[in-house]
Amino acid sequence: MAKVNRQTVSYLSRRFEEVGLNPNKRHGQNFLIDLNLLNLLAKSAQLDSNDVVLEIGTGMGSLTGLFAEQAAQVITVEIDEYLYQMASEELEVFDNIQMLKQDALKNKNQFAPEVIAAIKHHMQVEDGRVFKLAANLPYNVATPIISNLLRSEIVPKTMTVTIQKELADRLVAAPGSKDYGALSIWVQSICDVEIVRIMSPKVFWPRPKVDSAIIHIEHFPERREQFEDLDFFYAFVRAMFFHRRKFMRSVAVSAFKDQLTKTDVDQVLSELGHGADARTEQLDVKQMQLLCNAFRQKLVKVTGERNPKLANQS
Ligand code: SAM
Repeated sequence: MAKVNRQTVSYLSRRFEEVGLNPNKRHGQNFLIDLNLLNLLAKSAQLDSNDVVLEIGTGMGSLTGLFAEQAAQVITVEIDEYLYQMASEELEVFDNIQMLKQDALKNKNQFAPEVIAAIKHHMQVEDGRVFKLAANLPYNVATPIISNLLRSEIVPKTMTVTIQKELADRLVAAPGSKDYGALSIWVQSICDVEIVRIMSPKVFWPRPKVDSAIIHIEHFPERREQFEDLDFFYAFVRAMFFHRRKFMRSVAVSAFKDQLTKTDVDQVLSELGHGADARTEQLDVKQMQLLCNAFRQKLVKVTGERNPKLANQS
């Protein structure tokens, strides 16, 4: 079976020296050099021979090779053309890897269409294929990658990724905690999220300034189907956390300022039993969904529109 080279720190630094390059900070080039953790990430992704794996950030291809050993197909995206070249050499023994040399994101809110097209293509090759994301993500774009994929037309069944610990804490945060916010609610409303391992900077080369974590996110399409309008929920949650320190009532009044009166807002809140001193950060995911539905119904009634949108999007 094809195997990728063991990319220890001495191997990586020698390869970089040979081509006269240094890891590029701007692109978050911190390579995972602990071989046990590379294996742990690949194992936690629970890949099998039906899977189409998307990896963002090929780097030198150490994870790409591990994924290719287990999955039907790997699509790996690398923004840096020098790394793309080096990884192409590392990975030439595999015949189930498609390498893309580009930015994985079109912009902050959208995936690159070429990446989506590649996933769709490989998903159609055979019945029963399952799409998964697995990667040591570039930290500067980890949040848009995760949230855009969850909103894309093709959502991965699981995402097993290395991210900054601070972001992992936000993803798993419980109501009332300092890390709890729009992202926690948005992701937890359609997924289960688990921190697999916290990692110190020393398992990367070069060392980042912060701790990291491997997380495993499992998406449940049936939870998604419970929403009348998931985009509305997304916009609502963001708007409700926009002024974190304010009472929920005043945040809602300003979120709906061109659409609902203060009396409308008060009616919705009191029907759900939220008093004048309630704060959004105290609401759990279910309560947030109920609140969103109630506001949406109110908007339907007041505006007469069947699919109202939030006018004041943050
Ligand atoms: N997979 C390697 C590993 O595990 O050691 C490298 C991971 S490194 C944290 C992130 C990689 O993502 C870098 O190779 C970097 O050049 C690449 N990258 C950064 N921003 C990117 C983007 N927007 N699209 C695609 N690749 C990107």
